[in-house]
Amino acid sequence: MKVALVTGGGRGIGRAVSLQLAKMGYYVIVNYCSNQAAAEETLAAINEMGGQGEILRFDISDKEAVAAALSGWQSAHPDEYIEVLVNNAGIRRDNLMIWMEEEDWSKVLQTNLHSFYHVTRPLLQPMILHRFGRIINIASLSGLKGLPGQVNYSAAKGGLIAATKALAQEVARKNVTVNAVAPGFIASDMTAGLDEASLKKEIPAGRFGRPEEVAAVVAFLASREASYVTGECISINGGIYC
Ligand code: NAP
Repeated sequence: MKVALVTGGGRGIGRAVSLQLAKMGYYVIVNYCSNQAAAEETLAAINEMGGQGEILRFDISDKEAVAAALSGWQSAHPDEYIEVLVNNAGIRRDNLMIWMEEEDWSKVLQTNLHSFYHVTRPLLQPMILHRFGRIINIASLSGLKGLPGQVNYSAAKGGLIAATKALAQEVARKNVTVNAVAPGFIASDMTAGLDEASLKKEIPAGRFGRPEEVAAVVAFLASREASYVTGECISINGGIYC
């Protein structure tokens, strides 16, 4: 059994990634935090395609909760290991810096950046021991160019991109690759409140992207064929130059 874990796999980009990995033959652990119904729908869609997986609740920003969930899963599956990890779950709490409350700064850093440590670290050793692993981090255009109103989110995603590059160099010899993707504007619950009509004028492709268009790149990075690609951050943004 080849196992993949997708954090925030129940909705949006995470759902599209979960379905794509299931198509590749992965047993997909669909993590969620609050929306159990969406996670169950994703699992049902995987099963309908003839794939397999399970849902697993934990809050990626809570170190103890992550450790308990992952060690519980490993104890229940002593002969398996998670060979593909997609650090996808994330939130935004936008505001101009002068108005930004410390809680919004901390919550965004904890959920989008500290979670990378909480989830990746326990899964790294089995990948190294098995001499195969794929870690794919869902960063953002904001982490590359910085976006006004998103100082917290830009800091978290920029940190995630730098962490991707650093970790890639630590584990490359062990056949574990670490890459990021940086989506621009993708249609999902996260962007549902944005003014798409005005924003798409700034996008050369003239439209928001679809979660499946992100999932296709993640699938490539997860594949055996991507074995010599590591420490990269691939933009998926319809041609926005940054
Ligand atoms: P979304 O539709 O809002 O979904 C967010 C997902 O993250 C949900 O599955 C949610 O789980 C999960 N999540 C949030 N907080 C969590 C926590 N503490 N623990 C576990 N899971 C948590 O967002 P999306 O657009 O698919 O975004 C996915 C990733 O892409 C994020 O990292 C986001 O920053 C990044 N991204 C998105 C865009 C875009 O335009 N949409 C652009 C660039 C980057 P529940 O369902 O349980 O709430």
